[in-house]
Parts: sequence; structure tokens; C-alpha cells
Amino acid sequence: MKTNVDQKINELREKIREYDYYYYVLAESKVSDYEYDKLLKELESLEQKYPEYITPDSPTQRVGSDLTKEFLPVKHQIPMLSLANSYNSEDLLDFDKRIKNLLNITENIEYVTELKIDGVSISLLYEDSKLKRAATRGDGFTGEDVTNNIKTIRSIPLSVKTDTPISFEVRGEVFMEIEQFNKLNNQRKNEGLKLFANPRNSTAGTLKLQDPKIVNARPLDVFTYYLYSEQIRFETHLENLGFLKKLGFKVNTNFRLCKNINEVLNYCSYWEEKRNELPYEIDGVVIKVNNIKFQNELGNVAKSPRWAIAFKFKAQQITTKLNKITWQVGRTGAVTPVAELEPVFLAGSTISRATLHNKDEIKRKDIREGDIVVIEKGGDVIPKVVKVVLEKRSQDSKEVIIPTTCPVCGEKLFQPEDEVAIYCTNNLCPAQIKGRIEHFASRGAMDIEGLGESLVSLFVDLGLLKSITDIYELKNKRDKLIDIERLGEKSVDNLLEAIEKSKQQPFERVLFALGIRYVGTGVAKKLVKELKNIDKIITSSKEKIEEIPEIGPSIAQSLKDYFSKSENLEIIEKLKIAGLKFEIEENENADNSLSNTTFVLTGTLDNYSREEAKAEIEKRGGKVSSSVSKKTTYVLAGEKPGSKIDKAKKLNVKIINETEFEKLIGKQ
Ligand code: NAD
Repeated sequence: MKTNVDQKINELREKIREYDYYYYVLAESKVSDYEYDKLLKELESLEQKYPEYITPDSPTQRVGSDLTKEFLPVKHQIPMLSLANSYNSEDLLDFDKRIKNLLNITENIEYVTELKIDGVSISLLYEDSKLKRAATRGDGFTGEDVTNNIKTIRSIPLSVKTDTPISFEVRGEVFMEIEQFNKLNNQRKNEGLKLFANPRNSTAGTLKLQDPKIVNARPLDVFTYYLYSEQIRFETHLENLGFLKKLGFKVNTNFRLCKNINEVLNYCSYWEEKRNELPYEIDGVVIKVNNIKFQNELGNVAKSPRWAIAFKFKAQQITTKLNKITWQVGRTGAVTPVAELEPVFLAGSTISRATLHNKDEIKRKDIREGDIVVIEKGGDVIPKVVKVVLEKRSQDSKEVIIPTTCPVCGEKLFQPEDEVAIYCTNNLCPAQIKGRIEHFASRGAMDIEGLGESLVSLFVDLGLLKSITDIYELKNKRDKLIDIERLGEKSVDNLLEAIEKSKQQPFERVLFALGIRYVGTGVAKKLVKELKNIDKIITSSKEKIEEIPEIGPSIAQSLKDYFSKSENLEIIEKLKIAGLKFEIEENENADNSLSNTTFVLTGTLDNYSREEAKAEIEKRGGKVSSSVSKKTTYVLAGEKPGSKIDKAKKLNVKIINETEFEKLIGKQ
């Protein structure tokens, strides 16, 4: 039973981390926010039930990280946390009760309600009244220095006028107006570039550009909502907002001081209704305790303050006609139904397609071609069909016929016993080939700029690419490529250069790029760290692979399946010859003083957050585990340690304090 829970928790964490990486670092959403929140909730409730599995690096305990290592790291003076979520009035009434209980007061609490701008948070540090540095939230403790990009935003003052120079930090949300977002996407469409899913994604992508000139050409804006200064202290959040305005910062005018929680509820329902009238996207309302003394008393939990909460709006819905159902073949061969819709405008963009997930979903919701359907969009890439408006169904409508052969290559479809998905099993199916190559070249994988969906499709159709290994042969076909009407000499050379550059990608990226089932970015990292090279990964037994922390039997089996096929081994051989990296690049001077040691952390340390302690251990080749067992080498105990200490004593595991830890890592 326990190992099942352990495995489920690890699978959920792995999925969430992968979605986080796409969302925060690559500015792409692989699933809808709703689906993401559902996974996080599932993990939270499992961890609540089995607290022994909670680890400091669990996505429930930390803010989703946008760190890319492409900008200089910046340590936040005060952590930049996320917000707890609420979805209905009961949640908000509970929040109000909780605040009163914690503060031990019965009178009404004053709240400031603000619009929750759907953008990217930013910290602006001013020293002696001048903008010194702008940083992203990062992992909440360390962000990235994006000062040069932020300076392109006209509404951020580079210096403020004050009687005497003051130093302070301002935080706010960088965003892109809907109209500007649509303009940018139209331009990208004309240039054959990948479209941004929503204004939030385009803001995140823009902020992380290396060239401030391109940032400058994309109109970003900011609303500020937080001020902290050692020199000036106000008693209320409202006064902070007023002061920000006085200093020349842009503060959203739609905030409100609510005298009690009922006024908060009214504000939330008002804006849920009116959200579409704003020129920018909001995804909810943020409710903050107005009194700063109260805020300080309430403090924070792991990844959010106790004195604030986000009220998230429900996804927006609209009805339209479902004209046709098409079946799409993905890179794994999974054949999924897609609804082709009568285009409708919803939440800032025109929608013409929606996902139907799988054939069971079509049956369950009894969706048919020609139906009037309710579709929903929740800040996600592809909207979904919620239900059919049965009263409007035409008399002669017919049930959908589920295909039995692949719509692309004609191969008979196969449904594994334990799955709802149907698969095309023809490895040479052009749709699968396209999907595999696209994945291989994508930003999270080999990051070959220019080799996106449309070019891959064209090259496969022209027979220039039949497998991922052909990518590295394209340099021998330069003349043929230049002859293609769409491509000029310059763009061909850029592409070939990007392909050559991709050979420098580290082994963990190459492993992820191969597209092995269940091997996401996180799993690839762990495999590479433990097993070091491809030969070791290929030859390790299933049991050996399962010994790696957080790698479960399904991942191990999938690896075994993949490497048991000779065509896959051939691909690896060819990629090796092409010069791709198939082993970890160890720094020869690396400190491996903690290799073969496993730590468990408990309590609070003076000089390190959990994340920092973990990083110090891992940097030296050690491991950090969530629960104490016979295999644990040290339990590192800080202030107020938990029950892990008792378990360590029982199992005779060595317990060390912070000073001993610092000695171990050579810092004392
Ligand atoms: P969040 O966006 O839900 O809320 C916290 C953030 O709100 C703050 O960091 C701040 O940037 C912003 N904010 C906007 N207006 C504000 C205001 N007036 N005052 C204070 N803050 C304001 O939390 P998050 O941690 O940034 O993101 C988590 C959410 O992102 C998830 O719940 C999920 O919906 C989504 N997500 C989706 C995916 C996906 O793959 N679809 C992946 C990761 C996260």
C-alpha cells in the first residue's frame, strides 16, 4: 500500500514539475490551469493523509520556479510567495473566519480587494530613489535579473521624486493588453512562428528574451501592488497603494476597501461578471488584510501568506456549433478526437477547435457532429467541450463512429487493456514521425530554433525527414532546402546553424528529446544524474532503475521497452555519431564529498532555507530524502524538529545540527 502511495505521489510531482517547467520557464501550457490545479489538489490531499511523504521540494511546498539560468540570479530580501486559492463564497467565508481566529478578534476585518492581473510578477528594487534592479519571482527565494528588459516598460519610473532619497521594494504584475497580444500573435502567424496561447504566456516569454530591443518592440505594462521600505512604514495596505501612486507608479484603479467579508463577496461577483470589459485579462480577485500589523502577525505558510487569498474566477463558457469531429494522431500514436467548431469569440480570442480528450469522453457526454455545445476556456491553450445542449439537437443526428483504422496511415488501431486511448501502432505513420521530430526539436528538448510544427510537417511530406536522426543529415541537403519556395538561403543557413548548435545540449535534454514514455524533463535529469551515460541506462536492470529516488516501476518498464527495440538503439547510435551528448559532463574538480550519503531535513535552520540546504548537499553528490529509514545517513535537525528525530533515534541514524552540517560541507 505504502509503495503505491509513494509511487502515486512521485508520479504527480513529476507531472506537476514538468507542467511548471513549461508554464514558468518556457511560457507554454501543456494542460489547462483547471487540470493543473486538480493535480496539485490531488497531491495536496495525499500529502495531508500521508505527511511522512512531504518533502521540502514538493510542488505543494514551494512556488513554481521560472529560473532559466540565462539571467543573473538575484536573492530576494523578502521571499516572493504565491497565493492560496479560493473558488467560491464558502472558501472566502472560511478565510475570514480563519483570520479572525488567528488574530483572536471578533470584529469585522478590513480587506483591500484588487483585480488579479493575469501576468507575471516582478520585484523592483529602488536605492536612493533610483531603480537599481528588477527581478522575476524565480523560485520565490531567488529570482532572475531582468532589469534591462523591465526598463523598456514606460510606466516604470527609473527614479522617483522624494524630499530625501529613499530605498524601497515595489512588486507588481507585468502584463500585455489583449489588443497588443492579438497584434503580436497576428504578426507571428504571418512570420510562421508559434503562437502564444494567451497574454500571460506572451508576457512571460517576452520578459525572458535576451535582447531588450525585441522586448522594447512588444508593449508590456505593469500594475504595482506592494511596497516595502525600512524608511517609510504605513499602517495599512491602502496607504501603501496611495504612496505608490504618489511616487508615480501605476496602480490599478479598480481596487476597493471592503469593511467586511460580504463587501468582498460583492466585489468578487461584480468583477467575475465584468471581467470581459477590461482591456487586459484578469483571472480573479486578490483579497488582502488591510492592517499591516495584522499581516505581520498572520505571517506565511509554506508558499503563500496567510493574510491574502486569491479568488479564482470560473472558466468562461459560451455555446457554439460543433461542425465536425476530427481524429488527431500524436507522437506516441495516441489518436485523440478534436471538435471543429463554428468560430466564436471568447475571453480575448477566437476559438475554432476544442479538445474532446478520448472516445469514452465522447460517449459519456454523448457528443455528436452538428450539436450545439457549451465550450469553456480557462486560460488554457485548447478549450474543452463541457456539454451538449440537447434541446437543440437535430432529429437526424447520429452517434459518432469511432475509427478503427488510423486516419493518417490506415493502420488498424489498438486499445491497450488498461487505457482509454486508442493507438496507431505503425511506427512509420507520418503523423507520429512529425510528432516525434517536433518534440525532439522543441524548446524544452533540443531547442532547434526554426524547426517548428509547419517546417517539420513540410520536411516530412517532402521526404527530407523520416526520423529524428535525419535532422543531422540536413546539412548535406542545403541546396535542396534552398530550392524550397518558402525558404531563403539565409533562413536555411540559420536553421542549419541551429541544428549544429543543438549538439551542445546536455545529455539530460537529449534523453528527454528521445520522447520515451514517462521520461519528462525531471525524470531525465534524475536518470542522468544517477546513471551518468546512455550505456548504463540501457543496460541497467529494471530493479536497479527503480532504486533511483522518485523513479517508479512504470517509468522503469517504459525505459526497458524502449531500449529493447533495435530501431531505437540504431537511432541512438546514429545520434552518437552525429556528435550528440550521451553522457553527463562531470566537472573534474567537482566536490563529491557527500556521494553515497542520504540526508533527511527537519526543523528550521538559521542560515539555510530547506532549498538551499538541499542544494548544498546535492552539489556535493549527496541525496535528500523525505522520510527516515535505515538507509538515511544523517538527519539534519534545525529549530523545532518534527517527529523525524524520534524515528532517527529509533533507527540509530546520526542526527546532526547546523554547525556540524557546515563542518561537513567545509563551510566552517
Ligand atoms: P497565481 O497566479 O495563482 O497567484 C499568485 C500570483 O498572482 C502572484 O505571484 C502575482 O504574480 C499575481 N497577482 C496578480 N495580481 C495580483 C495582485 N493584485 N496582488 C498580488 N498578486 C497578484 O499563482 P502562481 O503561483 O503564479 O501560479 C499558480 C497557478 O498557475 C496555478 O494555480 C495554475 O492555475 C497556473 N499554472 C498552470 C500550469 C499549466 O500547465 N496550465 C502550470 C503551472 C501553473
